[in-house]
Amino acid sequence: MAPSAAVATGTAYDIDSASSLTVVVNKHRPLDPQTYVPKPLSRIQAERMRSDAAEAYKKMVRAAKADGVNIVAVSGYRSYDTQASLYDSYVQQYGQETADTIAARPGHSEHQTGLAMDVGNSSGVCALQDCFEETPVGKWVAANAPAYGFIIRYPKGEQGVTGYTYEPWHLRYVGSDVLAEQIHAGAKATGEPDVDTMEEFFGLEPAPDYLP
Ligand SMILES: [Zn+2]
Repeated sequence: MAPSAAVATGTAYDIDSASSLTVVVNKHRPLDPQTYVPKPLSRIQAERMRSDAAEAYKKMVRAAKADGVNIVAVSGYRSYDTQASLYDSYVQQYGQETADTIAARPGHSEHQTGLAMDVGNSSGVCALQDCFEETPVGKWVAANAPAYGFIIRYPKGEQGVTGYTYEPWHLRYVGSDVLAEQIHAGAKATGEPDVDTMEEFFGLEPAPDYLP
């Protein structure tokens, strides 16, 4: 992948380096190297995240708790090998075409950056399902996650851009609340085209499918 600097709102962001907090990973943009391992990693419940993202995550969880909402860590860092077995199991079960819509191929998963966490409710209600958005945690993160540097990485109606259907539970740390708020704000502008994905914000091509 050729190095490039994405410029948005007057600030240059490194969207190419695997270790960058603003790295953009999608079906057109594998991690470089594909076997990248983030360091250091911190534990969050039974999951792991890159330590800087973990700090921000814990701050967010504390704030939610103060509002009476219990955010549970469902799935955080996944290694290349873990992602490979997850993807392969979906291919066995559903075939490659369907597998590609529900799990990233190894080296193409945001979970491998250590910057993503799938969150849930302590009751487990609507875990990893559309109805998650109507749950206490779903509502809380939609309204407040950007203030802690996290975006809903796969918003509703953006499958043609991100390559994934709506995932209201998949939070991605982008390094700053300012940037997260800017990306998030794109979803609220009415009458204008949405700019609520990293692809749109950084002026990248849509990545609905893997390149042949
Ligand atoms: Zn996820």
